Amino acid sequence: MNKAQTAIAQGLLETPKKIVIVGHKNPDGDAVGSTSALSLFLKSQGHDTQVIVPNDFPDFLKWMPASEDILIYNQKVEQANQLIKDADIICTLDFNSFTRVGSMEDALTQATADYIMIDHHESPSDYAVLTYSDTAMGSTCEMVYHFIEAMGQLEYVSEAMATNMYTGIMTDTGSFRFASTTATTHRVIAGLMDAGAVHHKIHENIYDSSSPERLKLLGIALKNMRILPEYKTAYITLSQKELDENHFKKGDTEGFVNYALSIKGIIFAAIFIEHKKDNIIKMSLRSKGDFSVNLVSREHFHGGGHHNAAGGKSDLNLTETIRYFISILPQYKDQLLAHA
Ligand code: 5GP
Ligand code: MN
Repeated sequence: MNKAQTAIAQGLLETPKKIVIVGHKNPDGDAVGSTSALSLFLKSQGHDTQVIVPNDFPDFLKWMPASEDILIYNQKVEQANQLIKDADIICTLDFNSFTRVGSMEDALTQATADYIMIDHHESPSDYAVLTYSDTAMGSTCEMVYHFIEAMGQLEYVSEAMATNMYTGIMTDTGSFRFASTTATTHRVIAGLMDAGAVHHKIHENIYDSSSPERLKLLGIALKNMRILPEYKTAYITLSQKELDENHFKKGDTEGFVNYALSIKGIIFAAIFIEHKKDNIIKMSLRSKGDFSVNLVSREHFHGGGHHNAAGGKSDLNLTETIRYFISILPQYKDQLLAHA
């Protein structure tokens, strides 16, 4: 965060404020971690804070410190709307456009509070008094650490805040392996461990908490995987029937797409998941190197995200979506084959 941005933050936070902190729809480790960490930090500075997310988050994140204090918008609409209306400041974390908050969009559009955005996705919207946007960052949690550092207040980072930030950095960097992980990321991690984050416990809480049903579903996903070597592409499908038969719970398919990307020579991977209730197919896209799945999602699947990790959706049925996906690959063939 630069000097001008720090000065704006200091001005906004000079006196105690009513602050609402918002994460994106279908909150992930980075969303829960960054909002909870910032909330705890701002509370430690005398502010009145409340985290609100549009819908519930998976059980494998429910152990995170202060996650029990998060208000789930679609479960408490009136209370949440009042908090948003009364807020002096609204911090939006880990997203950069009101289209990413589902049914909260109207409430955020109508709010009169000053907005602070802290986010690492591409193409930020222009709604904030303070836009701290950096697409080179591997996670919003790392940015929250830099925010606190810029304010000169790292001494207030508690074990709970550190645990939250560590979790989001770990989940958004694929456990420190994606290209977005830097030497600075590791220095931040060192700071968080000094502040009390226990890395092996956090790793265990996130990655060793599968239900047997989740692993059975993974087995089906891997069986359904198709490989298109001529496009260095692999994709996975899961139908609603397959989800139902394995007692699917929110978060169960997290990480499945990475198996497709782990095949030697594959640089573009996708998972397509049927959501019968909403009549859509949701997808996660992943890539290696220069190939941008953010662009693919923007151009074809009403979504976006990052260069190497994006999400989107399709209104076609599962079979038609796959047919469409395969039909667009030729237009990317040169880029896909360029990867060494
Ligand atoms: P995932 O595939 O894990 O759901 O998401 C990968 C990345 O893409 C995340 O950073 C997420 O915030 C972003 N993303 C997922 N779905 C969408 C979407 O529908 N629209 C946009 N703009 N970004 C998305
Ligand atoms: Mn993130």
